[in-house]
Amino acid sequence: MHKAGIIGAGTMGIGMTVDLIWHGIPSVLIDVSENALAAAKSEILKTVRLAPLINRSAPRLTADQALELVTFDTEISAVANCNFIVENATENECVKKEIYGTLDQICPTEVCFAANTSCISITRIGSFTGRPSKVIGMHFMNPVYMKSSVEVIRGYHTSADTIDQAHRFLDSLDKEAILVNDMPGFVSNRISHLFMNEAVYVVQDQVASPQEVDDIFKKCYGHKMGPLETADLIGLDTVLDSLNILYESYQDTKFRAAPLLQKMVDAGLYGKKAGKGFYNYS
Ligand code: NAD
Repeated sequence: MHKAGIIGAGTMGIGMTVDLIWHGIPSVLIDVSENALAAAKSEILKTVRLAPLINRSAPRLTADQALELVTFDTEISAVANCNFIVENATENECVKKEIYGTLDQICPTEVCFAANTSCISITRIGSFTGRPSKVIGMHFMNPVYMKSSVEVIRGYHTSADTIDQAHRFLDSLDKEAILVNDMPGFVSNRISHLFMNEAVYVVQDQVASPQEVDDIFKKCYGHKMGPLETADLIGLDTVLDSLNILYESYQDTKFRAAPLLQKMVDAGLYGKKAGKGFYNYS
């Protein structure tokens, strides 16, 4: 891996970039928003500084050493010389369609595009390009640098060579790939969004508080995190976008987003990244 192009500097773009820094892989981080890029830079440096205090296996790097490995840019053309692209922009088909159209024009034809989407079909994303055989799903878990496995999705046209390249990219990050076939939501989110959404309905119906819902999953089932803590960590806006995509894709009311989730997103309560969701983080 010579240089990775990372599109989208939100929750996932930040985690991806930290992981690449820790593995000594240069990257270019792109976002349309100057503010998002500035916030990402500060969050990346904070993680690089603090992570070794919590996790002994995290490399100790100075800010200068970390910054030598990353370029921040608002122009997507800055990834033209990257040899692997991971796209983590907002979970919205129109946004992604425009990005892939541009990537297709500026990147050499041999470059693979890994879509870190929560729910959008990889076959559909491939259709936004003239190289569907070079498009693969790479659904990283959050925070990227702490998770050792990735759900990798084979689109209808994804080639064996692209799958090999994806394996090599993930090997360079010491991550295991679990390869599945393409349908919206894949395995993880098709299932997890049902129980996160139902947990919101439980709170909406005043059956239990968020803390009580999560305690049942943690203390009774032994899960590390409850569904509402997980939703807050993902970002309630992203969870809502994903549910809407699942609902549209399957035309199945089981994916109908809870009105309380919509209300919280409308109120700007996006979860951890906003400082408030089902829990307070400030
Ligand atoms: P986010 O909202 O935190 O960040 C998205 C970023 O994309 C924003 O900074 C936004 O400015 C940027 N963006 C929007 N349009 C862009 C464009 N045209 N070019 C470049 N950047 C653009 O979202 P996130 O949580 O980081 O999620 C990003 C992607 O990763 C989504 O597709 C999401 O479904 C997926 N994902 C999220 C999680 C999670 O836990 N949050 C986990 C796995 C996958």
